[in-house]
Amino acid sequence: MFENYEIWWVTGAQLLYGGDAVISVDAHSKEMVEGLNKSGRIPVKIVYKGTANSSREVADIMKAANNDDRCVGVMTWMHTFSPAKMWIHGLQQLNKPLLHFHTQYNAEIPWDTMDMDFMNLNQSAHGDREFGHICTRMRLRRKVVVGHWTDAKAQDRIAVWARVAAAWADSQDMLIIRFGDQMNNVAVTDGDKVEAEQRLGYHVDYTPVSELMEYWKKVDAADVDALVETYFKEYAHDKALEEKESAGYKSVWNAARAELALRAILKAKGAKGFTTNFDDLGCDDINDPNFVGFDQIPGLASQRLMAEGYGFGAEGDWKSAALYRTVWFMSQGLPKGCSFLEDYTLNFDGANSSILQAHMLEICPLIAEERPRLEVHFLGIGVRKAQTARLVFTSKPEKGVTATVVDLGNRFRLIVNDVECIKSKPLPKLPVASALWIPMPDFETGAAAWILAGGTHHSCFSYDLTSEYWEDYAEIAGIEMAHINKDTTIPTFKNELRWNEVYYMLNKSLC
Ligand code: MN
Repeated sequence: MFENYEIWWVTGAQLLYGGDAVISVDAHSKEMVEGLNKSGRIPVKIVYKGTANSSREVADIMKAANNDDRCVGVMTWMHTFSPAKMWIHGLQQLNKPLLHFHTQYNAEIPWDTMDMDFMNLNQSAHGDREFGHICTRMRLRRKVVVGHWTDAKAQDRIAVWARVAAAWADSQDMLIIRFGDQMNNVAVTDGDKVEAEQRLGYHVDYTPVSELMEYWKKVDAADVDALVETYFKEYAHDKALEEKESAGYKSVWNAARAELALRAILKAKGAKGFTTNFDDLGCDDINDPNFVGFDQIPGLASQRLMAEGYGFGAEGDWKSAALYRTVWFMSQGLPKGCSFLEDYTLNFDGANSSILQAHMLEICPLIAEERPRLEVHFLGIGVRKAQTARLVFTSKPEKGVTATVVDLGNRFRLIVNDVECIKSKPLPKLPVASALWIPMPDFETGAAAWILAGGTHHSCFSYDLTSEYWEDYAEIAGIEMAHINKDTTIPTFKNELRWNEVYYMLNKSLC
């Protein structure tokens, strides 16, 4: 919810050029901030916080930024030489994301009229270098955007950072609930939850499925009936499913009940994401007519809750659950959608070799190419082998980016791969939602690089995000990012991983 957040703009100045110059710069800054807000391209409101003319003023603004929950990040611009020693104490204290905007009030040089008064107001060419130097000397992580403030390209780069900074704030107050534990013996989806909270902000809790069942028991049958009606309105389906005495209807009804139970417990606990495990669905025997528990993993519920913005990871994958919530949060208002996905099976087909992306049930319908279809089929995995409802669809054939976080033992690594989704085919005998993609730069290189980087089979995919979002995210979090893209070659990528190993070993504060 971007409207809950704001970005603070601080203009660096000094009193060397007299009070009048600062008054003019103040007016310019207001106009620039207003221009950015009115551009309609930046979803988080930018708030002008005035000029900072001394060490004391800088420190006061940074302390206030730290203490204001609405403020997700600070943008700085030096209209002139703002001696950077006066930024040291403030920057030492700032614990919010930082964007340095290298811009200027004036666009083109007024060759015939330019005088020293003009220069006093348009000196960011050297002022921003002084500021950049101190940030680099202090080893501060930040984004530098260069461009005139009226330029859409510069505004879009600020918008990317604004979305990431807001998602970062969202993740500092994020609770992920694991219903059941991690799938036994799986390494790549597990990791250090304590380090995750220190480094990435979110908190991961365990909730026994028996507690979820207390919510399941309290679900009102009339609410389930109404939700089933919503399903039939929203999704394509066989008319036969609507027959109330049929086994199919019962499966859909059970899926709706599971969704209501899950949403209720997530709301009650203030959780932003969750994981499930097909081996832990409630304790009783499904053959007992009075059994308590889900009839199969709540797949349809997970699909719909993902579309609503809840983070989700299958088989206890809490890192993916948290990352998906962040992907969804960053993409709010963008048109093409995102989903949790799993590398399912390979399709060797020459230059079009690709990877089918799917899961047993849990793919977010936001990425669907056409209206999803509600179907009921048998699912023979886990403690409950039963008929179960799910949304079936194929996904848009467009470019996107997928990401995962792995725990390397001494640090987290964010792995990002640009991918191109291609036209998929129906799977009549495997009725699940899916996407089909070629990883960049090509199937062989992309898959090899992902494997060398230690990437998961689970990832968080988006059509709307680009690697720039992930670059900003990794910068804010202070974690490694390995980006597999159209220029990747295996020898260079391997070296990058080796160099990163040394870099992070030397920079203990980032491990
Ligand atoms: Mn899985």
